[in-house]
Amino acid sequence: MAETPSVEQLLSGLNPQQRAAVTHGRGPLLIVAGAGTGKTATLVHRVAWLIAQGTEPGRILLLTFTRRAAAEMLRRADGVLREVAKTTGRGPSSRVWGGTFHAIATRLLRRHGRAIGLAEGFSVHDRGDSEDLMNVVRTGLGLAKTDRRFPKKGTCMAIYSRCVNSRSKLEPVLEKAFPWCRGWEDELKRLFDAYVDRKESLGVLDYDDLLLYWHALLGDETVGPRIREQFDCVLVDEYQDTNTLQAEIIHRLRPDGQGLTVVGDDAQSIYSFRAATVRNILDLPKRYPDTTLLTLEQNYRSREPILEAANHVIGQAKERFTKNLWSDRQGGGRPRLVACEDEDDQTAYVVRRILEHREEGIDLRRQAVLFRASHHSILLEAELTRREIPFHKYGGLKFIETAHIKDLLAFLRLAENPRDVVAGLRVLPLVPGIGPAKAHALMDMVGGSGEPFAAWKTWRPPEAARAAWPALVELMTSLAGPGKNAGLPEQVHRVRAFYSPLLEQVYDNPVPRSRDLEQLEQIASRYRGRRTMLTELTLDPPSSTQDLAGPPLLDDDYLILSTIHSAKGLEWDCVYVIHAVDGNIPSDMATGSPEEIEEELRLFYVALTRAKNWLDVCCPLRYYNYQRGTSDAHGYALPSRFISDNVAKFFDRVTPGSSLTEDDEPEKRQPPTGLTSETIRRRTKGLW
Ligand code: ATP
Ligand code: MG
Repeated sequence: MAETPSVEQLLSGLNPQQRAAVTHGRGPLLIVAGAGTGKTATLVHRVAWLIAQGTEPGRILLLTFTRRAAAEMLRRADGVLREVAKTTGRGPSSRVWGGTFHAIATRLLRRHGRAIGLAEGFSVHDRGDSEDLMNVVRTGLGLAKTDRRFPKKGTCMAIYSRCVNSRSKLEPVLEKAFPWCRGWEDELKRLFDAYVDRKESLGVLDYDDLLLYWHALLGDETVGPRIREQFDCVLVDEYQDTNTLQAEIIHRLRPDGQGLTVVGDDAQSIYSFRAATVRNILDLPKRYPDTTLLTLEQNYRSREPILEAANHVIGQAKERFTKNLWSDRQGGGRPRLVACEDEDDQTAYVVRRILEHREEGIDLRRQAVLFRASHHSILLEAELTRREIPFHKYGGLKFIETAHIKDLLAFLRLAENPRDVVAGLRVLPLVPGIGPAKAHALMDMVGGSGEPFAAWKTWRPPEAARAAWPALVELMTSLAGPGKNAGLPEQVHRVRAFYSPLLEQVYDNPVPRSRDLEQLEQIASRYRGRRTMLTELTLDPPSSTQDLAGPPLLDDDYLILSTIHSAKGLEWDCVYVIHAVDGNIPSDMATGSPEEIEEELRLFYVALTRAKNWLDVCCPLRYYNYQRGTSDAHGYALPSRFISDNVAKFFDRVTPGSSLTEDDEPEKRQPPTGLTSETIRRRTKGLW
């Protein structure tokens, strides 16, 4: 068939391999290619191409790693389609099913869950809630009181989750990932069984359940085929970071591989701690023998000197399938390796560079500071705030994960699902005079239907609770009953009216917290209903209120701060990697096994390959131990072991030294001589 001009237009600008991928027929297609080679761009074009060829948008399922990525891809696909529409007259559509695995699972379960006996109004527990429920069950079984120390709730949850997501038995999981918990097999099995029962009786699903239930739904004789028939095409980005369960879901969605497109890069697999396995991508051709395998080797993102440095970093990996990349984006300086005196020096350097770049016309939003762990940016955040440089932070503690926001939402969750014991155990102890034991008893009194909180009305509260108790009962009765039809901002407002006065008694700095609650009330109007808001906030918590406030204004410019994990798939003109010292990259928390160190290496590679034109890698060589309260207690650090001499050759070495002056006291300038990396690492440990 001769291609119409519009399709030709859609394909223009793609290289031959990308074109082949975009216009590939229905057979299973696998693209394994390195960073910045246009994998995501290819998927976007393929979606647009499929629609231009007549595929109904609602019959396309696009699975991505973050909701941010999904929104971005659908926006890009719309852009491509709009161009096409100018000639075909077929308008762009926003009805493509796009989102994370968890978000799509929720949508499908709300639609089809009834068939497997799932209550329509099920609530979704985030990780924190799940741990809390695990703790309730653990205490109930008396496991918290045993002589030997039983694993904490977070560890129990991690073990449970690992079993579910890797579809493995408990014993091998303990053996491999939690060896210090061996010996507790029987208790853990008992705990997990009880946890599963408890969720069932409460009508809640945790994150892992969303995948498990989706998987089960697809295995159901009646519903399974219906869901399969709902989609003609399934496209998956970042496949290297899916886990076994996710791979099986894909397999059940496309048992013969028809209409399946999968892209990924084994050199960027960074989520094995969440049971992701790179084998999924490498074994796809085994699962579908008629798989077409395409590779892409031209990197369009980074300038050649940056790519060369990144290639040498990943060149140190023991096992890798994708090849070294090339770029024809010549010119630009080499990346910089910045030896900073200490953390203050690093902060000063990074801020100076950011402002210099902005002077040169690079907006803040085209610049990003990346780090291994969320708390690595604290000092920088303080300095940016002081200098009034706006920023957004991704990864780490999110607005929605802050205690007061969780509290407020817990009221709404309890109203939505009165049996949600985790929400109840959060709400009730906010009332003075009610502790965990009373809260448990009160939750046991909650009824199933009609007026669920009726029994609370006749309960005699202790003296301290006497003032607040009737107001709480009235609030909850109203929110679960007649008030549930009030507008969402109105509902939040009522909760706020009850909860705000309690803030001062529960937390320090109540004023900013109270302002956050006001923000939430404003934001509430953006959601269709209570359940939608609770689900969306649980599945993809925004990192700041600004995130929730809708698309930023055009002149609203802000710098990006992000953990490396959250920077996956993204790109910026200028990238600053901070704290690139041993102990941070690789993280001390992840140097237990060669595999973990390999994953840290790939993580470092992901960070470097986010940069288009400028890359600065900063290594503070001295860390002060603020916790001890003495300003000069410090330890030395070494640049990351991933920047070996062979790699460092591809960087320009820079020593800003800005925090030192000639007359600085000599102690501060003493070079770190006579130390071995071993002692340094030991000293640096435990500083934060
Ligand atoms: P990652 O592995 O980091 O997810 P990726 O392989 O998904 O990267 P993209 O984000 O799709 O890569 O593309 C990287 C950059 O290259 C983007 O800015 C994209 O617009 C650009 N790009 C991709 N293909 C081409 C092309 N054929 N011509 C010009 N630019 C391209
Ligand atoms: Mg990508």
